[in-house]
Amino acid sequence: MNQSIFQTNPLLNWTTLPDFESITAEHVQPAMEAVLGQAETDLTALEGTDPAEWYDLLVPMEKLADRVERTWSVVSHLHGVRNTPELRAAYENVQPLVVAFSNRLAQSEGIYLALTQFRESDSWSGYSSALKRCIETSIRDRELTGVGLSEDKRATFNANTNRLAELATRFSNNVLDATRTFTMELFSRDDIQGLPDSLLGLAAQTARAKGHPEASPEHGPWVITLDMPSFIPFMQHSTRRDLREKLYRVVITRASDGDLNNTPLMDEILALRRERAVLLGFSTYAELSLSRKMAPGADRVEDLLFRLRDAARPAADRDMEELRELARSLGAPEAEDMCHWDIPFWAERLREKRFSLNEEELRPYFPLPRVLDGLFELVRELFNVQIRESCEQVPVWNQAVRYFRVEDSAGNRLASFYLDPYSRPEEKRGGAWMSDLVGRSAVLAPTGSAVRLPVAFICCNQTPPVDDTPSLMTFREVTTLFHEFGHALQHMLTTVDLGPVAGINNVEWDAVELASQFMENWCYHRPTLERIAAHYETGASLPEETINSILAARTFREGSNTLRQVFFGLMDMDLHLRHDPAGTETPAMVQERLARETLTMPTLAEDRFLCSFSHIFAGGYAAGYYSYKWAEVLSADGFAAFEEAGLDDPAAVQRLGGKFRNTVLALGGSRHPMEVFTLFRGREPRIDALIRHMGLEQKEEEQS
Ligand code: ZN
Repeated sequence: MNQSIFQTNPLLNWTTLPDFESITAEHVQPAMEAVLGQAETDLTALEGTDPAEWYDLLVPMEKLADRVERTWSVVSHLHGVRNTPELRAAYENVQPLVVAFSNRLAQSEGIYLALTQFRESDSWSGYSSALKRCIETSIRDRELTGVGLSEDKRATFNANTNRLAELATRFSNNVLDATRTFTMELFSRDDIQGLPDSLLGLAAQTARAKGHPEASPEHGPWVITLDMPSFIPFMQHSTRRDLREKLYRVVITRASDGDLNNTPLMDEILALRRERAVLLGFSTYAELSLSRKMAPGADRVEDLLFRLRDAARPAADRDMEELRELARSLGAPEAEDMCHWDIPFWAERLREKRFSLNEEELRPYFPLPRVLDGLFELVRELFNVQIRESCEQVPVWNQAVRYFRVEDSAGNRLASFYLDPYSRPEEKRGGAWMSDLVGRSAVLAPTGSAVRLPVAFICCNQTPPVDDTPSLMTFREVTTLFHEFGHALQHMLTTVDLGPVAGINNVEWDAVELASQFMENWCYHRPTLERIAAHYETGASLPEETINSILAARTFREGSNTLRQVFFGLMDMDLHLRHDPAGTETPAMVQERLARETLTMPTLAEDRFLCSFSHIFAGGYAAGYYSYKWAEVLSADGFAAFEEAGLDDPAAVQRLGGKFRNTVLALGGSRHPMEVFTLFRGREPRIDALIRHMGLEQKEEEQS
């Protein structure tokens, strides 16, 4: 049976690229069951062997895992870009099987023991650094799933795992329910003062869904919710201070009382995490989390956050003063009594006053073909690779999808990628992302080749072309494309042949955004910006003042924004590092103390933000929220290397680009990210470039 399915099912029957056109939802379940069954059999057989050499273990393991991964990556990809009810059902049916298999693989004691034996063997010193890292990180990942524990500890550990998963789900459901159950109904024109048409349209649509079939954007009623697309524009535009206050007070106390109260869940989660850390031999959960991250220790993380706080605080104080000044100049009462619920409103007024930027008016200057040409040109100059649209007919999942080849200067193919640029709300999920179809690997080389080349998917959600008008992008869509392309470059330009540590595989969580944010920096580089922007009809360049506005808007209210991120990062670290779940200081008190030490305007006494902080209590960011800032330090410092060498010196840019390609992009997860960064920069990362790029340096007059 299995033999025939491997030949007849298009999810399984492909070597280089799948035939997306012939894959349907009915293929999913049989294909996944077949590959998982096969992998399970192979794994059991492998566990029964006693591998003498590393390749006796790692080669079959890479092969059996890849068969599952590459099939699943096609399924997940189609789930994201060509979704149908049938595909969703098939996906949901098989997903638990995939999770169960990856748990089984990660928790295999036989594999764990074999790996540790290699580490202790005499041949270890002769292994390549990539191989050593592959084995070491694999051992560590397995230990974090409890594999190395004794029988009795393992039982506690597994109970801990299950209870934590249950609590995370409840925490996040409580936040969702608390968000969903609140609505604010508005009936009179007086209530909607200041609101933009787009929000009135959304609010009337929400009203129709909530029992007001007669609702219209012009005549109401209008329903405002705590969902971000409703809440944020309301806070930015409503001139009704009382309503802004009402909404603000609701949002800061979400999921903090009654049936949906997350306070006891939070206490239990923190206590269980500490127990988990201790079981695994760490003293705190922060230490456990950092054991698989780039940051060397909690002290370095806090040091970064404190330094950012010190840099951002004066700028944030200035931001606040500017809002008060603007309110004063317009005779508004907020000038002498600025409250939390006034800040988004006045910040938006200041933005309108300072920048005449209108996202929509910029679109004609960023037609996709021009932006792509500029991006590919930049990549050629920086990394000496050519990107060409493939002339071969490649099966795609939608006619708008394009397929490109990446070649070195001699024309040898290095990698390829699909670009799916346009929004298709009926079948494609929102946002932008990069994912991989297959990665570079020697073991998985097709017959006749030395290596399998990487293939990436880049998916965006921009406006499709209409008749003769190309897709016209907002500036944010441009930076997003550069960002995702950075991830793709790290996947595609790897030179590592050992699959599990090639490209983006095995890169630490707090370092994965280095390549992507590095590429984003170029959108703020004037010559690059000039190169990618030209009016799609007239060919005119962006007006000088528009370029200046784009560059200046990048750092608008950066002091306040940074401080907020730093505040979240500090709370996260404090709770996972020194907070004692059995002690007298509650998480709410930790929040209150850190707000006082950090923010320009302390939080209100009733603020229970932590009760809705799903990132750290229900997501993957526990003792890792700092990662956002950590990665920004890396990308800013990486870009600063180019600034120091001279951005208008083509030889210097090319030299450094080559270095970036040979380190960050080539080595990927095969070395520790600190080592990779140091190879590129010649030293460990420094924070100065980020502070400078964000405009947070002390102003001259304040230094005296
Ligand atoms: Zn990213």
